[in-house]
Amino acid sequence: MAKTDYDLVIIGGGPAGLTAGLYAARARLHVVLLEKLMPGGQVATTDWIENYPGFPEGLSGADLVMKMTEQAKRFDLPIESREVQSLDLSQPIKKINLGDSSITTKTIIIATGASPRKLGVPGEDLFYGKGVSFCGTCDAPFYRDQVVAAVGGGDTAVQESIYLTKFVKKVYLIHRRDELRAAKILQERAFANDKIEIVWDSVVTSINGALTNVGSITLKNVKTGETRDLKVDGCFIWVGTTPNTAFLPDVVKRDDWGFIVTDQKRETSVQGVFAVGDVRDTPLRQVVTAVGDGAIAAVEAEHYIENME
Ligand code: NAP
Repeated sequence: MAKTDYDLVIIGGGPAGLTAGLYAARARLHVVLLEKLMPGGQVATTDWIENYPGFPEGLSGADLVMKMTEQAKRFDLPIESREVQSLDLSQPIKKINLGDSSITTKTIIIATGASPRKLGVPGEDLFYGKGVSFCGTCDAPFYRDQVVAAVGGGDTAVQESIYLTKFVKKVYLIHRRDELRAAKILQERAFANDKIEIVWDSVVTSINGALTNVGSITLKNVKTGETRDLKVDGCFIWVGTTPNTAFLPDVVKRDDWGFIVTDQKRETSVQGVFAVGDVRDTPLRQVVTAVGDGAIAAVEAEHYIENME
């Protein structure tokens, strides 16, 4: 078999990738984890995590990924800040294009996660960073004693709205249906919070303002068709996520929403290429499921390499 630079290359350094790295390093595979920016992924900007077992008081997302990174490094997992441009998966030995160079590997674990989905309405891009935000932990302190809108009805929108109330005077939670998708315990907390007013059956049709700040959003009631402007100082958007797969060739099969299709081994449609965490077609996108994926894929990658040799 031809010589390769690596046994395994892990792309992405969120909880799924870091766990795959921990298992691979402990299995003494010749492995590297490539991360575009800093290890952490989406969870690094999550204010508080209280459903990851082992931490009865909860902990911040940043702390959790810091601990995961430390643990993987303890077993000598190399982590490099490199952005993958494309993959050549046409041969059993896979090639990873890093722009100015390329590396070869026997196996790949894709752990690139997902990014916030946009609404696609006028003003969303124009006011990004000037009143439009996708990150409560990053931006909530800028809205102290102000009035903001939060769009969405899932766990993220509800949990982050509750977090916003530590800073802001009022949160209008805008949801397109008459029932939230979020976990019941989060719903109960939102309903009990005086600073949160839920605007049901409504979608945002535009985000408006002067040059440098948001002044209002236009809402449409999907049942009555009625439109109105709501005065707000900021608009947080939490309407789900889109998988980060732009660098992937079509040979890696995706589902209708663009998430990578995997089997029980977390192997994709290409042998020796695995996908873990939020980027794959999983029924649950949580830290606890991402780390399970990472462990399974690393062990399966090890078996794949053994069978190759
Ligand atoms: P999600 O569960 O996919 O929810 C997205 C929400 O946005 C839904 O309520 C959806 O409405 C709404 N939506 C989607 N597109 C829209 C549009 N164009 N206009 C208006 N509303 C739109 O996404 P998420 O809340 O980001 O959660 C993602 C995953 O992370 C989930 O599995 C969630 O459980 C997990 N998560 C867990 C926690 C936690 O455990 N504490 C915290 C955060 C996230 P419909 O309901 O009408 O579809």
